Amino acid sequence: MQQSIKEQIDRIKARGAMYVDTRYYPYEESNQLFMLNGNLKDASASRSSGMGVRVLYKGAWGFSASSDMSDLSGLFDRAFDNARVASERVTFPIRLAEKDVVQASFTSPSELDPFEVPLSEKVGFLKEMDEKLNQKGVFLRVGMMNFVRKQILFADSEGSEIEKNLTEVFAELQVSGQDSSGIMQERKFRLAQHGPTRGWESLDRPYFLQNAERIVSELQQVLAADDCPKEDRSVILLPGIMYLQTHETIGHALELDRILGYELAFAGGSFVTLDDFGKLRYGSGKLTARADATLVNSPGSFGYDDDGIPAQNVTLIDKGILVGAITGRQMVEEANARARKQVFKGSGGANRATAFYRVPIERMTNINIDPGSDGSLEDIVAKTEKGIILDGDRSWSIGSNREQFHFGCEIAWLVDDGKVTKVVKNSTYKGATLKFWNSLSAVGNKSTWQVRFVDNCGKGQPNQIMQLGHGVPVCRFDNVRIGE
Ligand SMILES: [Zn+2]
Repeated sequence: MQQSIKEQIDRIKARGAMYVDTRYYPYEESNQLFMLNGNLKDASASRSSGMGVRVLYKGAWGFSASSDMSDLSGLFDRAFDNARVASERVTFPIRLAEKDVVQASFTSPSELDPFEVPLSEKVGFLKEMDEKLNQKGVFLRVGMMNFVRKQILFADSEGSEIEKNLTEVFAELQVSGQDSSGIMQERKFRLAQHGPTRGWESLDRPYFLQNAERIVSELQQVLAADDCPKEDRSVILLPGIMYLQTHETIGHALELDRILGYELAFAGGSFVTLDDFGKLRYGSGKLTARADATLVNSPGSFGYDDDGIPAQNVTLIDKGILVGAITGRQMVEEANARARKQVFKGSGGANRATAFYRVPIERMTNINIDPGSDGSLEDIVAKTEKGIILDGDRSWSIGSNREQFHFGCEIAWLVDDGKVTKVVKNSTYKGATLKFWNSLSAVGNKSTWQVRFVDNCGKGQPNQIMQLGHGVPVCRFDNVRIGE
């Protein structure tokens, strides 16, 4: 197969293409289980294979994809023809940033292949968790598992050849109950980074049982709690909400295609302009953020992106100043041309497609916040006069250019004079992105830092659902509006 792909790439190159690449998926398998109140509602499995071909001709892309590998010439010709037609209408000729040619492979760190685990064992795991969740006050109990295994063979006309073997494991437990005013309250536990590998072994029974017990107890406290006050307080975000704050107001805001206006019709744009790089004070001096695809064991670490660029650790915000973006080969060239100066030096390796039949676009890798020097959660609480600790994402609403946000949380604890006083329900907070990040007054140390996984980030037209990670510490922000 690889020899045939090479011959096709050479043939299309000889027809005048500037660049050709292919992503051949010999297989992609998924397996999902969903248990509701002790009943297995869904146990589905799927398997597909196919190839996507991109051709760059006279500054325009052409793409084609198929599951039918019997007519490779036809598949490559369609991509070439699409590029040829598009090139007659191109307004901004596409150029690709330089890259090194690589022959390499990447395999996700995984010990026990979840696809080798019998269904009965998976159902047994969910059943055990469900029994633990079945307690007073719990109205709905949900247990979910999602496994993905795929092989991707990348080849391009510049000579790169990359083999990727990716395994993904996601799991979640949820409990919901009704409070005295008839409002449903919920508490979730999602598998976060747990050890250096993420095969079936990351579904660690004692770890899940302990968290099942915790979310039930926390839900029971929320059900009996008073409402969150409507006032200004310092908010202390735990990783279970800090990941979403980072995702929505740093991650999506710094995708370069969005900054250039390409996502406006669908997921929205960004308030960031090309002029802002190297200058804009995005947050306080305590904020350093990065797009780190080199982090061991996360769905945002995949070895090589779909342009064939090796994983990189790109600084996005350096001590509060905006310095980088989430980039691929095409957008960095366009951004530099539009800015008439070199804003970006080469691709940041973040161009990814969700499947062989989609084109790669700029996606988050692991958008992380560096741990800080303000100690543990207890240390931060002890130094907070009037605050609220928030955790768990319940609702989110974000401005179309990521300029402001409103998040609802699952649980909150009030802090007064350095002490946790009580749990409150219906907690929310809101703010304007830059003002909020500039009010960052404490960043927890490594003991507070967790890598949270996201399995459902949507972007692109047609929509592409992507998996990634966020390594985030506990952070405190001052003078934030809560409760409305
Ligand atoms: Zn997203």
